[in-house]
Amino acid sequence: MEKTVFEKIIANELPATKVFENERLIAIKDIAPAAPVHILIITKKRIPSIQKMETDDLPLLQEVAKVAQNLAKENGVEECYRLLTNCGTDAGQTIFHLHFHLIGGRPLGPMA
Ligand code: AMP
Repeated sequence: MEKTVFEKIIANELPATKVFENERLIAIKDIAPAAPVHILIITKKRIPSIQKMETDDLPLLQEVAKVAQNLAKENGVEECYRLLTNCGTDAGQTIFHLHFHLIGGRPLGPMA
């Protein structure tokens, strides 16, 4: 199976601005930011989407939340940010490797 863009970034085969990394997660700046702060928190394990997570994977969500809290604080957006994952093409998912968008740095308004 061909590597996802994120697997290539994790393997240092593609450049990215890394802002966090541990054994299980990596966080990078989004290449096409939707706001002044737009960070992707990516599982190193290739999981196609949140819908495909197995029970054993679920502790990753706790870690994603903690990393998001820390990155929000480091980027000064802890009072106003959005943390989301797109699941499925019709929801806007384009890379089928689990990741969470941390978006902030401007007033975000309602989702719609
Ligand atoms: P999604 O549409 O939810 O699957 O999100 C994929 C995100 O990855 C988009 O916001 C893209 O801008 C971003 N993206 C795609 N390629 C790269 C890359 N090489 N480096 C950083 N972000 C990327």
